[in-house]
Amino acid sequence: MNAYCPSCGAPVMPRSRFCPSCGRPLPDPPPLPPPSPPRGNGDPPVEGVLPSGKRLRVSGDSLDLRELINVVESGVRWWQRSLSSGDAVTRQQAATAIDELSQILRSLSQQLAQGRETIRITKRLPALRHFDLPCPLCGGGNRAGARFCQRCGALLAAAPRYGAEQVQSRALRFTVAARTDTGRVRKNNQDAVYTGEIDLPGGRRALLCLVADGMGGAAAGEYASRLATEVSRAHLERESADHPPPTDEAWQALLREAARAANRRVYDDSRADTSRRGMGTTLTIALIAGDRLHIASVGDSRAYLLNNGGVTADGAPAAQLTSDHSLVARLVDIGQLTPEQARVHPQRNILYRSIGTDPSVDVDTRSEQLEPGDVILLCSDGLVNHVGDDELMQIALGEASLDRAAARLVSLANERGGRDNISVVIVRIEHAL
Ligand code: CA
Repeated sequence: MNAYCPSCGAPVMPRSRFCPSCGRPLPDPPPLPPPSPPRGNGDPPVEGVLPSGKRLRVSGDSLDLRELINVVESGVRWWQRSLSSGDAVTRQQAATAIDELSQILRSLSQQLAQGRETIRITKRLPALRHFDLPCPLCGGGNRAGARFCQRCGALLAAAPRYGAEQVQSRALRFTVAARTDTGRVRKNNQDAVYTGEIDLPGGRRALLCLVADGMGGAAAGEYASRLATEVSRAHLERESADHPPPTDEAWQALLREAARAANRRVYDDSRADTSRRGMGTTLTIALIAGDRLHIASVGDSRAYLLNNGGVTADGAPAAQLTSDHSLVARLVDIGQLTPEQARVHPQRNILYRSIGTDPSVDVDTRSEQLEPGDVILLCSDGLVNHVGDDELMQIALGEASLDRAAARLVSLANERGGRDNISVVIVRIEHAL
């Protein structure tokens, strides 16, 4: 994965335009690989949320064995109930799921009986690029020890030093496109998307993007996703208007509060109206303030960071920023399923965490540094079930028009079956100058 300077042989990041060691311009990166062939459609998705307060924290490189067993157990119960209630779930599907989960449960219980407390995660979200040394001229990030800026070529030690504030406030420009589509199988669209600006003090603005994927019956799912986006948007606008959070941690706390406000509202409304009982929704929030990206997520609507020049520590051009809160994703973590099996797995839409199904909810948050050339993509599972990461990346990074990129992604998912509602938000980050 490592690239080297053709002039002096020093290692360089794949995204570098100038050698950090000798300062000479570097050749353009090789073109991206061709798109992968279309994927199979699989069965129509069966949606559901595992009942009552299931907690499963993905931290470090292991999962708590008891927490995982609880979630797998409630998965077995969920399929047993679906089997007896004669829902859309076929008996064959339910029988296979129960059999599969029972085997996993046996293996996990044996490990617990042998005294193990945790289970190792074999597949994790990738480590992202990390820049310790900001260029005093353009503000771009560089690795510690670099002599020349990889973006503008400035000599890092000798370039005139501006104040930290000036570097931090380097202007970035955002272009946004959003699209949501019913797909070709469902009768209504239970996804909700929102993009808009939030006014901050001093004439500054933050960009807010939301994707929610509702579930719990057609009308209830639609209501839940709209309510969650509306409540979280209003909360963020209200709370950041006068005193915007000063740090990443404070932004993350505010995003968690916004998701929890949405959770309480959806939960209360589901209790108040029997036709809406059990409704829930995913919620993924991306908020861009200055050159920082803040993310919060509950469920399996994803956020990706893309850049032709590389976004991970080893220079890969795409990274998923969110963890799917689905049983299937955790089975991938522990090596029970491959990511490719998970993508078409009949249980892929069974979540253990969602907005509105329990009185309280755990919310994942993170913050990342943005660079010109970055693209942020949020989407519901109706897109990723049909379109692979490599194709997402090629279309989102390759199209000059973001609107066209969003339209192409939705069309591609529909061409391959459109089994679920399809939503996508794409944000491109560029130099303002
Ligand atoms: Ca969905």
